[in-house]
Amino acid sequence: CGIFAYLNYHVPRTRREILEILLKGLRRLEYRGYDSAGVGIDGGNSKEWETNSKTIQLIKQRGKVKALDEEIHKQQDIDMEVEFDVHLGIAHTRWATHGVPSPVNSHPQRSDKCNEFIVIHNGIITNYKDLRKFLESKGYEFESETDTETIAKLVKYMYDNREGDDISFATLVERVTQQLEGAFALVFKSLHYPGEAVVTRRGGPLLIGVRSDHKLSTDHIPVLYRSTGKDKKPCASMPRMDQDTCLFPVDEKAVEYYFASDASAVIEHTNRVIFLEDDDVAAVTEGRLSIHRIKRTAGDHPARAIQTLQ
Ligand code: GLU
Repeated sequence: CGIFAYLNYHVPRTRREILEILLKGLRRLEYRGYDSAGVGIDGGNSKEWETNSKTIQLIKQRGKVKALDEEIHKQQDIDMEVEFDVHLGIAHTRWATHGVPSPVNSHPQRSDKCNEFIVIHNGIITNYKDLRKFLESKGYEFESETDTETIAKLVKYMYDNREGDDISFATLVERVTQQLEGAFALVFKSLHYPGEAVVTRRGGPLLIGVRSDHKLSTDHIPVLYRSTGKDKKPCASMPRMDQDTCLFPVDEKAVEYYFASDASAVIEHTNRVIFLEDDDVAAVTEGRLSIHRIKRTAGDHPARAIQTLQ
């Protein structure tokens, strides 16, 4: 029901600060109503980070954001003072449509026990039963009753069955959205793409707030089209980032992104926002934001404006 995610790029933040930002975002969305809440962050202690053995940690609770907050502070094995230079944290308040309110049905939902891919979702996937049946036939084991879990498993399926190694996170998510029916706003995080975020929507609201001390190089983000069907090759071999779609063409600039289902969660951080349109797939890679669309008809999707909220 409520989505909030935060990506810091070259803005050092401790895990404690990141969790505070996430919980604050969720509190701003509480008025919409919900029955459970959860977060997904990079796990491990500082030693593990030095040795590069990365994990993703999920903390989920039935009930209020306050209950999640208490659960987070109970976690003894999380080193709150670990500092991240680049990090994506995702957070969700759930209003159950498929499956009772419970920690396992709360979001983030995950692809597998290693949390290779995690996702938060607002909305309903109407063809989830077919997708679940298909994935079960391929050996994927489900743990929740949610429609959302099929999305987490489907993105892993796309990853496990990719051709070639250099497939972008955005391309994987585009392939997933092509299989989905219903309404959704989604935020993805992955162990395979650390520090990267991919978000998409169809029917559910989703906006991206951008905060940087540097002047934005553009007021509009062009939309990168991708073709499908026979012309599939350009999609698979698409470079991970297209220069034309970069908000910040120069590397190494500090920037923060806020992803939310509602502007009220973002406004305290920045007033520069981009409202996504249906079927937009937006990705942050190496601190740069790009927006992609599967090509349908030429010229019908203008660049996304960066708006200033009043
Ligand atoms: N359909 C999903 C579920 O039941 C998402 C519900 C929501 O929008 O919060 O888990």
